[in-house]
Amino acid sequence: MTEQEAKRYGEEYLYDLTCAVCKVEDKHKDFVRLSIKALEKQIPKKIIHHKNRLKNKMGCFITEEYWECPCCGRIHEEYYSFEYCDCGQRLDWGNEE
Ligand SMILES: [Zn+2]
Repeated sequence: MTEQEAKRYGEEYLYDLTCAVCKVEDKHKDFVRLSIKALEKQIPKKIIHHKNRLKNKMGCFITEEYWECPCCGRIHEEYYSFEYCDCGQRLDWGNEE
């Protein structure tokens, strides 16, 4: 089972729990909800690449380049691909040109 499949399974399971006639403990629903959230972070999300051409104080054009986490919005200026953001989100660097 992949993380994607596990997440889908969890969502369906949570849906069944919500519809269940018998009383399900909130604790149990919270557990499933949190598990789905944790799984979501394991599924790579494409990192947002920013590349801007700016004019500096001297009037020269410079290129400003940075990456943004799609989950927490944290800005990364490291020039190498790393697998996880500090927030725990797994990152997909795609095909960088
Ligand atoms: Zn992040």
